[in-house]
Amino acid sequence: MADDLKSGHWTHAACDICGAQDHELLGERHYVVAGRTRRFAMDFQDMACRECGFVFAGKRPDEAFLMDYYRDAHIGHRGGETHFDAEARAATVASHVPAGGQIVEVGANDGAFTTILRDNGFDAFGFDPNEADEARDVAKGFAGKGETGRPVASADAVVAYYVLEHVIAPREWLAELASYLKPGGILIVEVPNYTTHPEDSLNMEHLLHFTPESLKRLLAVCGFELIDTPPATMGYGQAAVARHTAKPRQLAVEVGALNHALEAYDKAKSAREARAAASRKAVACAIECAHGRETPVFIWGANEYAERAAHLLPEHFDHVEVLDKSDSKLGKSFADLDPAIAHPNDRADVVDAIFLVCSPNWNAQIAAEIAKRPAPALAVIDAVTGEKIA
Ligand SMILES: [Zn+2]
Repeated sequence: MADDLKSGHWTHAACDICGAQDHELLGERHYVVAGRTRRFAMDFQDMACRECGFVFAGKRPDEAFLMDYYRDAHIGHRGGETHFDAEARAATVASHVPAGGQIVEVGANDGAFTTILRDNGFDAFGFDPNEADEARDVAKGFAGKGETGRPVASADAVVAYYVLEHVIAPREWLAELASYLKPGGILIVEVPNYTTHPEDSLNMEHLLHFTPESLKRLLAVCGFELIDTPPATMGYGQAAVARHTAKPRQLAVEVGALNHALEAYDKAKSAREARAAASRKAVACAIECAHGRETPVFIWGANEYAERAAHLLPEHFDHVEVLDKSDSKLGKSFADLDPAIAHPNDRADVVDAIFLVCSPNWNAQIAAEIAKRPAPALAVIDAVTGEKIA
């Protein structure tokens, strides 16, 4: 890997919802992320707006830097679990979009969900800034560039799962999405919930941290009226269905919004420490279960839990490898590990391996899948809690 550290140009941002410039600094977080060809310095100033309590990155990187980062270093939120949440997403779409309707999926990743929407009879089209080279049914390009290949104002719905929290300029981005919609068209978004899971919202890629109230208020200033809050498809998330009305409205700020932001930030800090402790516990458990250094260790699911384990394990084990089922991750390098990310099926014949399973939502299902493999596992350890499952 080239030892080339990119830092980008980070500029100050006003509150995205109310426009206020008076912010309280909650804390700073600095990460150096190893990509495939270079390293990226990510420098976050977590701010809370003193007017409305919205929590956001007080400095935003330039788009070119962020695009480079996503192409080179992004590993996505989901590890080995892509297929589990598709059904719930499809159900939300089916209950709000007319049969056969036109849908644009923004941030379509490898196109898996766009393909499901097509299979369900929708006229679906996806695009993504960095996955288009490898994926079917996905075109390249950010929203805002008119690169969807679709006529404007024709879509029945735009869906964007876990994209809005990454966006540098959310009001412009939502205006662009609105331009795809026919009058009264529907927007379906899902983002992390800063109220219930501030620690997941405050990860190293998110620029915006939404409470249910601040999400509703941002949608309103962009002319979207909230019409439904279906159950989130990820444990840490919140979903919103909104209708485009073309009538921007500034909604009242809820009482105590700033205090709420501060309290959640403290909660996130404790949770981060607890997660680091759970990772250390999972690794200690692996050492205890292993026959020695030569026991193969598989980390199942390329995500942030995997990343912490991947930094700790090589000191104790000769063979550490990350498994994932997502087409967009297979073959990519992960952390500083030597083997590239492999599909679990390609390691089905390895006996007496230890598995660290890394999904906050689906570890029980993944453990059941491991139990059905022809080669018996030595141990299955939950990397989220640090506990041995099997
Ligand atoms: Zn504000």
